[in-house]
Amino acid sequence: MLGLMQDRALLISDLIEYAALYHGDTEVVSRSIEGPIHRTNYRELRQRSKQLANALTALGVKFGDRVGTLAWNGYRHMELYYGISGMGAVLHTINPRLFPEQITYIANHAEDQFLFFDLTFAPLIEKLAPTMKTVKAFVAMTDRAHMPKINTGSVDLLCYEDLIDSHSADFEWPQFDEKTASSLCYTSGTTGNPKGVLYSHRSTVLHSFCVCSRDGLGLSSADSALIIVPLFHANAWGIPYAAAMCGAKLVLPGAQLDGKSVYELTRDEKCNFSAGVPTVWLMFFGYVDQNPHLDVKKDIVLERLVIGGSAAPRAMIERFHNDFGAYVVHAWGMTEMSPLGTTGNLLKRHADLPIEKRFDIQQKQGRAVFGVDMKITDDQGKELPRDGHAFGNLKVRGPWITKGYFKGEGGQVLDEQGYFDTGDVATLDPEGYMQITDRSKDVIKSGGEWISSIDVENAAVGHPAVQEAAVIGVFHAKWQERPLLIVIKKPGQDVTGPELIKFLESRIAKWWLPDDVVFVDELPHTATGKLLKTKLREQFKDHKLPTADAAE
Ligand code: ADP
Repeated sequence: MLGLMQDRALLISDLIEYAALYHGDTEVVSRSIEGPIHRTNYRELRQRSKQLANALTALGVKFGDRVGTLAWNGYRHMELYYGISGMGAVLHTINPRLFPEQITYIANHAEDQFLFFDLTFAPLIEKLAPTMKTVKAFVAMTDRAHMPKINTGSVDLLCYEDLIDSHSADFEWPQFDEKTASSLCYTSGTTGNPKGVLYSHRSTVLHSFCVCSRDGLGLSSADSALIIVPLFHANAWGIPYAAAMCGAKLVLPGAQLDGKSVYELTRDEKCNFSAGVPTVWLMFFGYVDQNPHLDVKKDIVLERLVIGGSAAPRAMIERFHNDFGAYVVHAWGMTEMSPLGTTGNLLKRHADLPIEKRFDIQQKQGRAVFGVDMKITDDQGKELPRDGHAFGNLKVRGPWITKGYFKGEGGQVLDEQGYFDTGDVATLDPEGYMQITDRSKDVIKSGGEWISSIDVENAAVGHPAVQEAAVIGVFHAKWQERPLLIVIKKPGQDVTGPELIKFLESRIAKWWLPDDVVFVDELPHTATGKLLKTKLREQFKDHKLPTADAAE
């Protein structure tokens, strides 16, 4: 027997309709690319999204067509989020930090019909225009007065505000199957070409419920939310949609992510919620440290910060607690997961724990949210115990997790039970908290045992003279692989290899100690700021460990 509940489709257009009706005056504040702070609200956002949908229809955009964006976090990008998906086309957010050849590759692979760009990227558009095979026009996200003087060859260059102005807001959002594709985001792909993750209206709306739940990201109408995580990276962790669902005030930092700009925006807009990768907060702390005259306690009212994308350092979790009275929600996920997988909220029983113990828990990546099934397995696919010690391949399944990449790239990606292999290696503890110990490609296999490169890196950056550290496995005749520690020293600081090893001795298992330490001036990173270990392994593939001879 089937239930007798209405089959209303879960559509992205309903989110902006709800926000406009129940939170119409709630602000959406952006630092514009042209300079000044721009203020709008959900009512106007709906109106302009509809004008945009009319404009796109007039340009010939059809149901299912992909429309690309190369843009920062700002109100026009939000209008594209709602206008494009709302009309049944597919929003394709492109990460401008990718290499130019990758941008060309994904725009062509996605068959983007139009490409909207922020002024910052005008030179890039001029350079790449001839390589983009399917784009019918480039649209500069600005007004007539600021139009860039670039040459896009035989392809038209249009002005965003002209497009909006020349169309009415009289547009009925179409109703369609909730499984319809809504947006497309390519993973940065440390190996091979980037692969497209294609979200649906259903997956996006379900994910938004999770972002708004207390044990998800806890976003609500009581929040002024500073969204630092880019709108071009895994849907800015779903917050652009969830914020409309709950009516949170949105604060969008544009292109300026330096410490001063982020500090001022947080202060001026009284942001109590934020979401971003750790690097941004390091710059924020740097600014605070260089300006001791700031009245931080009065200026900054942050309560809840979602930090993810890479591990939130313990020192950051502690500092937000101690200096700002703010709670860091350590979160883990990936583009393929919309991206939310786990969140580091404390349970009721943790309330009375000493603060150090609570930090221990917060340092883990958190517990699976409802909607995400999670397990760890060995290389043969056998499930491993949830004892907090065994670490294995982390696999997930759920209604906002991909079942395959766009156009079938990468082939079959699920196991027999429908689980997707995240490529991460992790532990699960008896309370359900997951901790990432490595990427599966980066784990160091020494004599049949696994060494977590991340644990060794974290221990190394605890040394006061270490700015950044990377650990990779290097060939070893006896042990197969042994760890090599590669370090950038802080300016003006000094430390030797043996001193670092001595420092690590009390912090990690003896057999995890690196066999050698090398010092470098810089480390390679991916387009999203993660250590590019494939490159490091290539660079150090012939590195001779001092222990190598002893092994022969
Ligand atoms: P990209 O490779 O484009 O940055 P993702 O954002 O999808 O793509 O990256 C997801 C990966 O980032 C995860 O599989 C994991 O390795 C890493 N990651 C995300 N959050 C965390 C976290 N809190 N701690 C450690 N690693 C994380």
